[in-house]
Amino acid sequence: MTADHTIDTLGSDTAFKVLFQYATIGILVIDKSGKISLVNPGAEQLFGYTRSELLDQPLEVLLPENLRKKHTGHREGYFASPKARSMGSGLDLLAQKKDGKVFPVEISLGHYELSGERMAVAFITDITERKRAEQELKQLNEELEQRVADRTMELKAALDREKELNEMKSRFVSMASHEFRTPLSAVLSSVSLIEQYHRVEHEDKRKKHVERIKSSVKNLTDILNDFLSLDKLEQGKVEVDPQQFDFEEFGADAIDEVENMLKKGQEICYHYSGEKQILQDKRILRNVLLNLLSNACKYSEEDKKIELRITCGPEVVSIVITDQGIGIPEDEQKNMFEKFYRARNAVNIQGTGLGLNIVKRYVELIQGKISFTSVKNQGTTFTVILPGQHA
Ligand code: ADP
Repeated sequence: MTADHTIDTLGSDTAFKVLFQYATIGILVIDKSGKISLVNPGAEQLFGYTRSELLDQPLEVLLPENLRKKHTGHREGYFASPKARSMGSGLDLLAQKKDGKVFPVEISLGHYELSGERMAVAFITDITERKRAEQELKQLNEELEQRVADRTMELKAALDREKELNEMKSRFVSMASHEFRTPLSAVLSSVSLIEQYHRVEHEDKRKKHVERIKSSVKNLTDILNDFLSLDKLEQGKVEVDPQQFDFEEFGADAIDEVENMLKKGQEICYHYSGEKQILQDKRILRNVLLNLLSNACKYSEEDKKIELRITCGPEVVSIVITDQGIGIPEDEQKNMFEKFYRARNAVNIQGTGLGLNIVKRYVELIQGKISFTSVKNQGTTFTVILPGQHA
């Protein structure tokens, strides 16, 4: 079959001949039996076959292997009731080149009769580029959506944090106005009394009031420090800085530090066993220990014993603080690590409800765990478990 013959088959209209010859899309004419009877240069280029290789071949040679059988059925259906239609909108139609490469196409179908025989015409466009662009656009869209979602989440988290911070500030203001009152009035009354004790023989009384002022100021500083620690912890600004130190000595120093908190007849018994040296963040551990020890004193009556037991094993370090104090009511135990939470049997004792929350956060920061057991009016035991880290 020659090129001229091909064009002649379409009719005598030169315009159509030119269209067929020079169209950049592929055009195929298929007879009723599904054989290819016309191929334009566009189709040759599209599929990588020469016209002579395609003529009289079943149309299905241009389809990926796995679709051929199904397509034969479609084609027969089309010839039974042919309609002009475009295929592939919304559908992924695939074709296959001579070299086996599968690519996406868009196809429009038409039909006509030639010498009483029904013929179908397929106009085929390679849409690889369009698909790629669509895919790229889809991906860009997805990325954009993801970025919007991420940003929204970030904003929401910032907003939540802002809300929480605001709430915390207002709770702090109400807690501070309550908790600051006692030490401040103690300072005021001691200062007025000191003014009156100006004689030499009043030296003892003056000293007593100076001590009272000091302890009230310390109390105020402790509240502020707790609040600042919490703020720093919440903002993730506390960094762990492990160093090597003598843990046994460290425990003894902590006991010395809370010495002035002990009530009449209270004493802290210290038991230490295991390795002496530890690699830990000293500042964090000090805060944890002082908080738990001072609570043990604060929430126990006079003459009660407190015990600090440290076991420094190679794998695990445990710090156990036991008191014989007021205990924590069972139904409130689940809330004890919450910010500002104070048990109902503790409301007459000064406190902010921040200490345990800070302690828990600190313990978790150094990969540890904290728990407690308590029986009301019998006592409480706090246990801190840390991974054993020794240089
Ligand atoms: P604060 O002592 O300032 O109230 P904490 O956060 O240290 O704050 O403690 C929170 C609450 O836990 C206390 O108010 C108290 O009800 C309870 N609590 C903590 N330690 C003990 C303890 N050793 N014995 C009894 N209750 C305790």
